[in-house]
Formats: sequence, C-alpha cells, structure tokens
Amino acid sequence: MPGSVANRRLLTPRSLRDALRMLDAEGPLTPMAGCTDLYVALNFGTLRETNFLNLWELDELRRITVRSGGVLSIGSLATYTDIIHSRLVSTRLPMLVAAAREVGGPQIQNRGTIGGNIANASPAGDTLPVLAAADAVVLVRSLRGERRVPFSEFYVGYRRSVLEPDELITAVEVPAVKGRQWFRKVGTRAAQAISKIVMAGVGGERGQPPRIAIGSVAPTVVRLPSTEAALASGAPLVEAQRVLQDEIAPIDDVRSTAEYRRRVAANLLASFWNERGRR
Ligand SMILES: Cc1cc2nc3c(=O)[nH]c(=O)nc-3n(C[C@H](O)[C@H](O)[C@H](O)COP(=O)(O)OP(=O)(O)OC[C@H]3O[C@@H](n4cnc5c(N)ncnc54)[C@H](O)[C@@H]3O)c2cc1C
Repeated sequence: MPGSVANRRLLTPRSLRDALRMLDAEGPLTPMAGCTDLYVALNFGTLRETNFLNLWELDELRRITVRSGGVLSIGSLATYTDIIHSRLVSTRLPMLVAAAREVGGPQIQNRGTIGGNIANASPAGDTLPVLAAADAVVLVRSLRGERRVPFSEFYVGYRRSVLEPDELITAVEVPAVKGRQWFRKVGTRAAQAISKIVMAGVGGERGQPPRIAIGSVAPTVVRLPSTEAALASGAPLVEAQRVLQDEIAPIDDVRSTAEYRRRVAANLLASFWNERGRR
C-alpha cells in the first residue's frame, strides 16, 4: 500500500552544519536528495516511518572540483546531468559520464544524485562499479567529524552500508585514473531500465594491471580481484572467465536469471579485455 506523507515532517537545513545538527538532535530523519529512489519506496509503502531531511538546497554539496594530486572530488548532491556536463568529469572520469548517460531518462538524470545512488546501496546502481573500479573514497560527515571510507569497504551486505543514522555522504573522491576506462550496462532497453548487469573496468594495457567491478550479480557491487589477477598474469581469457564465475553469485529475479547473468558477465569480461588498444 502506498505510504502517506501526511504525518511526516520535512526539515530543510540551510547549511551542511545545520543538516548535521538536525540529524543529531531531531533524528531519526531520512535524508532526501533528488528523491527518485525515496519516492518509489514511499509509493511501495516500504519507507520506514521517519521525517525527512531535505538536502536539495545545500549547494555546498553540489561542487565538482579537482584537488591536489589530481584527485577528482564530486559533491554528493551532483546530479547525473551535472556529471554529464562537467568538463572535469569528462576529461578525468569518462566512464562515470558514460554511466550517468545511461541512468533512467533525462528527468531522473536531472534529479538523481550520485550520493543518492551510493547511499541507496542497490547492487544494480550504475555508478557503483565505476567508483569501485576507480578506487574511490566516500566522504562521510556527522557532528562527530569526517570519515573517509574506501569504496571497497562501504557496503556490508544487501542494501546495507557502513553509514550511521547521524551521518551524511558529503562527497566522493576519485584518485587520478591511469589507462583506459570502460563501462557497459546491459538492461532491457537503452533508457529507463535497471541493469541486468553493469560492469566497469580500468587499465589492462601495456603492463597496467586491470581493475574490474561488476553490479547486479551479488548482494553488493563487487570488485573482481581474482579475475584481475588472472588477466594480469597472462592467463588465457577463458581461464579468467572461469575465475570470474567463482567471484559472482547472481540470482534469478524479476529482471533476469542467474544463468543469463553468468553468461553476460563472461561476455562483458571478454569485451573489456578484447577492446584493449582500440579507441
Ligand atoms: C524511473 C527511474 C529510473 C531509474 N533508473 C536508474 C538507473 O538506470 N540506474 C540507477 O543506478 N538508478 C536508477 N534509478 C534509481 C535512482 O534514480 C538513483 O539511485 C539515484 O541516484 C538516487 O538519487 P536521489 O538523489 O534521487 O536519492 P534519494 O531518492 O533522495 O535517496 C536515496 C537514498 O539515499 C539516501 N541519501 C541520499 N542522499 C544522501 C546523502 N548525501 N547522505 C546520506 N544518505 C543519502 C536517502 O536517505 C535514501 O535512502 C531510477 C529511479 C527511477 C524512479
């Protein structure tokens, strides 16, 4: 049954500091960014009974900058449209632009944020393999201070992360990526389709070890360290594809079957590997 907003309050802070104070003093609150996931949960009646903390006005969380050492910093409120139009992201992390272009449609891209995609913790989130393959760091703030959580440690299970109820994601930082970047999403259609499989990869050329991550094949997005090691050691592709099968645990669900996901994962690995050296 659709949930109701009748008895819920909407708190709108004017600064990050305000937001953190509200979370601390008036919680539990559900942070609300673009609301594209929250609205669906509200409609399905699966949103727990809390009041909302509206982050949308906090422009300080929307900035995209490059810090010393070439680290790309993307504010948690940056939308997919912001990412698509950012020269900094296009030149430094084009695989994130590729992912953003395939999220939903223009309406979702205008409202959906990267912080919402990360916090929502769906194994099918399209930006998540990109961030995993790029060795991103999630910046998390509360009144207690800031934590820098390596992306590989952010998720602890299906739809569960290390984020505490009094914490907000403020940004994600991505160290300079060397080598080529590759992204591929397989869904039912080109737009408005949740991934059946989504994969991102980095490097793999001229002695650069590959870094590969995949979504929709396990309770969380996963990096593939054994598959990466097999490819880096010069093992034949077919051997790496066998190793990959042990690193994923897809299930049958409304969007696809485990068998299909296993075959497509192997095919995507082949595409990533065989496209080395091509532009
Ligand atoms: C029609 C449709 C199509 C979609 N297509 C895709 C798709 O192709 N690919 C894809 O990956 N996703 C898709 N989505 C899902 C959704 O759009 C994305 O996950 C989006 O990035 C969510 O961002 P948001 O700002 O709307 O998050 P919200 O809905 O505002 O929030 C989502 C969750 O994150 C929490 N949250 C948000 N911001 C923060 C923060 N800064 N700190 C802490 N917690 C926070 C909220 O409390 C909530 O639990 C689709 C959704 C719809 C409705």
